[in-house]
Amino acid sequence: MPKSLAHTPRSLSLGLAAVVLLTVPVAERDADAFGLPMQPMNIQLREPGFELPLALEPGFFTVPGVVNWLVDRLYAPIELRVVYWQVENDSSLTHLSALWGLESSQLLELNSWLEADMTVPAGTKVLVYRADQDRPAASIGKPNRGKLNNGLPFPEGPFWVLRENRSREWGTELTIQTLSDALMAYGRQYPAGPKVLVGEISKRTGGRLTPHRSHRSGRDVDLGYIGKESELHGNWNRVTAENIDTEKTWFMVKSLMASGQVQSVYIDRELQLALSKEAEKELSPEELALIFEYPKRPDSHLAVIQHWPGHRTHMHVRFRCQSWNARCNSY
Ligand SMILES: [Zn+2]
Repeated sequence: MPKSLAHTPRSLSLGLAAVVLLTVPVAERDADAFGLPMQPMNIQLREPGFELPLALEPGFFTVPGVVNWLVDRLYAPIELRVVYWQVENDSSLTHLSALWGLESSQLLELNSWLEADMTVPAGTKVLVYRADQDRPAASIGKPNRGKLNNGLPFPEGPFWVLRENRSREWGTELTIQTLSDALMAYGRQYPAGPKVLVGEISKRTGGRLTPHRSHRSGRDVDLGYIGKESELHGNWNRVTAENIDTEKTWFMVKSLMASGQVQSVYIDRELQLALSKEAEKELSPEELALIFEYPKRPDSHLAVIQHWPGHRTHMHVRFRCQSWNARCNSY
C-alpha cells in the first residue's frame, strides 16, 4: 500500500486507532460488456478500526490536540442514516417529487408536516431518505443492465454541487458514502478550493438512464474535473492537459482509490497523462502502473484508470459491489 494513498477521511480522523489492511488478490476475468477487462483488485481494503476514548489519545489535552479534534469533527464523514435536501425555489410537492425522483406520497410519508397542496418555501429542508435496515440500498445485476433497490440519495455538502434535477443522484450506500467521504477529504485539504460537480449517478430505482449505457445500478458516478481557471469552475466544460488542476484532481482520485472501494475510473487519455505526471511526485513506477492506463505499458489494460471516449468533461467512477450483496454483478 503506497503511503501516499493512505489518506482516507476515516484514517484522518482522530479516533481511528487501528487500521487493518487486507490485500485483495489480483484477478483478471473475462472482458466486460464494454469490452474492457476486469480491473485488478490491487488496491488494499481497510477495515474501520475501533475508537479509543479520547482521554486515552496521547497528546489530546494540548492546544493542537483540541484543534485537531475540532477540525476532525468539522470534516467528519457525512452521516447517511437520514438525508435532507434543501428546496431551492418555492415549489409545489408535485414539482419537488419530479425534481427529486420521489413520489409525492413518499415525501408526505417522510415529512408529516407536509401537505399535498402546499407550496414548500425556498430554503426548507425536506427529509428525502431514512435508512431502513431491512431494506438496504442494493445494486442488482450489471452496471449497464441492472437496477437499484431502495436507492440512497447523495447528500448536500459544503464542498460539492449537485445537479438541480436530482432524480438521478441515487446510489448504493457504498457509492454514496465513499464518494461523500472523498469529497470531505478534498474539502479538508482545499477548504477554499472550487466545489466539485457531482453529476449523474442512477435513478432511485435504477434502470435505463439515457443517454448513458451504464449508470443503471447505483454504482456509476460522473464527477467534474477541477480546472485551474475560475471560468472552468461550476460547469461541465471540457478541460485539457493544460488547464486541468492536476494537484486537486489527483487528490480527489487518490482519496477515492484509498477507500479500496473503487473498481475502475474512466478518464480521457490526455488528462491521464497530465494526472500521472502529478502522481509521479509521490508514487513509484510500479504504483503508477497499477493505477494509470496512460502512459501505455505492457499491463496497461489492468490499470484502475482507463481511457474511455467522452471523458474530457468529467470522469466516470465505478464503485465496487458491496460484499454482502450476491445479486450485484461487478461487470
Ligand atoms: Zn458516466
